[in-house]
Amino acid sequence: MSKLSVSDPTMETAAPVDWDGLTFSLTPTKAMYLASCSQDSSWEDGRVVPFGNLSLSPAACVLNYGQGIFEGMKAHRSPDGRILLFRPLENGRRMEKGAKRMCMPPFPPARFVNAVEKVVRANEEFIPPPRKGALYVRPLMLGTGPILGVKPAPSYTFVIFTSPVGPYFKGGLNPIRLALTRNFHRAAPGGTGDTKTICNYAGTMYPGMLARKQGFAEVIYLDAHHNRFIDEVGAANFFCVLDGKLITPALGTILPGITRKSILEYSSQVLGLEVEERDIPVEEALTASEAFCAGTAAVVSPIGSITIEKKEHFFNDSKVGPVTKRLYEDLTALQLGEIEDRFGWLHEVS
Ligand SMILES: *Cc1c(COP(=O)(O)O)cnc(C)c1O
Repeated sequence: MSKLSVSDPTMETAAPVDWDGLTFSLTPTKAMYLASCSQDSSWEDGRVVPFGNLSLSPAACVLNYGQGIFEGMKAHRSPDGRILLFRPLENGRRMEKGAKRMCMPPFPPARFVNAVEKVVRANEEFIPPPRKGALYVRPLMLGTGPILGVKPAPSYTFVIFTSPVGPYFKGGLNPIRLALTRNFHRAAPGGTGDTKTICNYAGTMYPGMLARKQGFAEVIYLDAHHNRFIDEVGAANFFCVLDGKLITPALGTILPGITRKSILEYSSQVLGLEVEERDIPVEEALTASEAFCAGTAAVVSPIGSITIEKKEHFFNDSKVGPVTKRLYEDLTALQLGEIEDRFGWLHEVS
């Protein structure tokens, strides 16, 4: 099994951070979690170590063949001083499933939550005050052992690092402009679109760059088979409000977002909205009264318009709609422990 070492932290970290200057970018923190495992054993007890570089063979499977999966979650400081995670067991379960798809040894979800708690606690001083942002948590599982043929790595590394991040929207919700593409797809049936594997993201950088050059915030993808049904938006799930119903693409090639799942449960059980998970033809989506995308980073992000072949189609005159606003406010308050946690979604870091 290849030996991994932690060496030479290249970036100095010093809390306190300028909480008001935080954006959604990397600020390394002092500690990370590290565990390793060989292909036919189980994960060793991991440990919290100083944040630093990983040393690995150029023949590492992940570098050559992309055998890697990740997660993304946030730890919030509540107004009463608690440290709160949002449904961390869901991230652990998704990672366990993803590991199977990518031929990696699954990390037990309960241990996953425990490891996340340890690294969050170790970086406590980097958690922004309430409403200034969150400590973003990035679990990463990599096939780090060396190999030449296309086969699973002989050994694996599980790392969890963190970074304080600012609120996605400074000064309120801003509707974003999206560019629809028919020339690129992020996922195909039978592929890995439903797995948070590192393989899915490099291929979206080029269409994303083209869209940003033209002034759009992100790309909206269609399904690869029919080139007609909404898939998702960059790295966030799509929702729209049609005839008073909340509609989102069915699971399949999309990434099963935990924000998506929570919005569906919350909307039907608390807001009393009718919800549907189904194929959404793009021409139908354009008739929606509101549209938004959802994910851990932005929670809920209103979509002001979708541009298709130079024609811009607006939702709600590019203003934030009532359902979008309500979901953003409620979910944000819930994650901060400000409103009743009736579903038991919050996990306090002890
Ligand atoms: C992570 C991710 C999402 C959002 O998932 P959450 O669990 O809500 O953060 C959506 N789409 C893609 C492609 C993603 O990678």
